[in-house]
Amino acid sequence: MKPTECSFLFWPMSIAAPPRTQYEAVIGLETHCQLSTATKIFCGCPTTFGAPANSQTCPICLGMPGVLPVLNATVLEYAVKAALALNCQIAPHSKFDRKQYFYPDLPKNYQISQYDLPIAQQGWLEIELVDEQGQSSRKRITIERLHMEEDAGKLVHAGADRLAGSDYSLVDYNRAGVPLCEIVSGPDMRSGVEAAEYAQELRRILRYLGVCDGNMQEGSLRCDVNISVRPVGSPVFGTKVEIKNMNSFSAIQRAIDYEIERQTQALEAGERIRQETRLWEEGSQRTISMRSKEGSSDYRYFPEPDLPPIELTPAQIDHWREELPQLPAQKRHHYEEVLGLSAYDARVLTDERPAAEYFEATVAAGADPKQASNWISGDITAYLKAHKLDIQALPLRPAGLAELLGLIQAGTISGKIAKELLPELLSQGGSPLALVEAKGLTQLSDPAALEAIIDELMVAHPRELEQYRAGKNKLFGFFVGQVMKKTGGRADPRLTNDLLKAKLEG
Ligand SMILES: [Zn+2]
Repeated sequence: MKPTECSFLFWPMSIAAPPRTQYEAVIGLETHCQLSTATKIFCGCPTTFGAPANSQTCPICLGMPGVLPVLNATVLEYAVKAALALNCQIAPHSKFDRKQYFYPDLPKNYQISQYDLPIAQQGWLEIELVDEQGQSSRKRITIERLHMEEDAGKLVHAGADRLAGSDYSLVDYNRAGVPLCEIVSGPDMRSGVEAAEYAQELRRILRYLGVCDGNMQEGSLRCDVNISVRPVGSPVFGTKVEIKNMNSFSAIQRAIDYEIERQTQALEAGERIRQETRLWEEGSQRTISMRSKEGSSDYRYFPEPDLPPIELTPAQIDHWREELPQLPAQKRHHYEEVLGLSAYDARVLTDERPAAEYFEATVAAGADPKQASNWISGDITAYLKAHKLDIQALPLRPAGLAELLGLIQAGTISGKIAKELLPELLSQGGSPLALVEAKGLTQLSDPAALEAIIDELMVAHPRELEQYRAGKNKLFGFFVGQVMKKTGGRADPRLTNDLLKAKLEG
């Protein structure tokens, strides 16, 4: 909004200056996800990460003349499943196009992608934000389109010493032809937190489906951010800036927050925002200009003549839809609304599908959901991290955990004893009840036996007893501790409390 230059003439001095313009950010993400197929999108070369340079290539992915690409059927299946999980409309007729540009990592001088008829459009995903008070809010982010394409190779800048004549780059075509699906969100996000949560939810969904491993360090999931800032309430978008080079969710969040601040300050100073591509610099925690971008490049797209159009029947789409697993958002809703977990706990448990399934199996075996959630998110997760184990490989199975929690609930053992038994159960598995019996650890809940112990203690600690009776209430804990010491932690805590109270007060 242009400030009205003459407004001060009519502004009486006693009234404050007009309110400062409030700005809001408009953010959209373009995400490239590598589909986890064993072979490339148009040839039979393997897609293994980290193989020796150019060892996974053939005439097709090297773009030799006269070769013909053939679409990998699993790529189509994975792309459609991802699109269905994102609530997209699947196109019954779709096609590939050539996107033409020159770059040394692109052997054909064009990339096979999808242009005007992508495989899917018009979907959405739901993000859930939990604030510091534990309050959660849900928001739908639209998905504009999802399409399939091939990846390019990788340039390795081997030398940069121009004077010594070692200024050259090497190219590795192992990645050329690796299948990607590009997912474009609507401009629906307003903050770094929302964008980071969108990217995380997208990764979760793809991992639940098993169509992408979501490894950002290896480049399996790459996010580009489009961001502009405008006065709140303005119907038009500001000039957008693209940010690249973020390889973690926190980097996405910080880069966006930095950029919102930078653009807002520029607008407030009356500057014009340049349309450009900026890079996130992790070291200095800022974005820097990479190149200006006036208008969009002309890639001279045209339909790929070597690949037939893609025709999908409703029966095929339905079949893939039926194979979809329950997705993270559905699980979160169920955990919160049916099982009574907090939004925070539901989020932690559903982050990875195997942990969610372990939790559900524990509850199905009779465990209390809240208890199961605490144990899985707490001690069990810590154990898995310390031992670099997957929950699927954990010797303590869900039925065993349910049995252990049942023993606490029934008063057979205390929570403290259960924690002591846990390392052995986690590493060996087996029946918690059998272990408790073998070690003679069942809880002491015979009032007569506990009373006898308390009597002994009162005789052994007359000074403490006298002080307690004189009003030093803190000493109650001392007696509880003595009972626990005497019984090896097996005394029923509630019964101990009741009996001690009665006895100490005389
Ligand atoms: Zn190949």
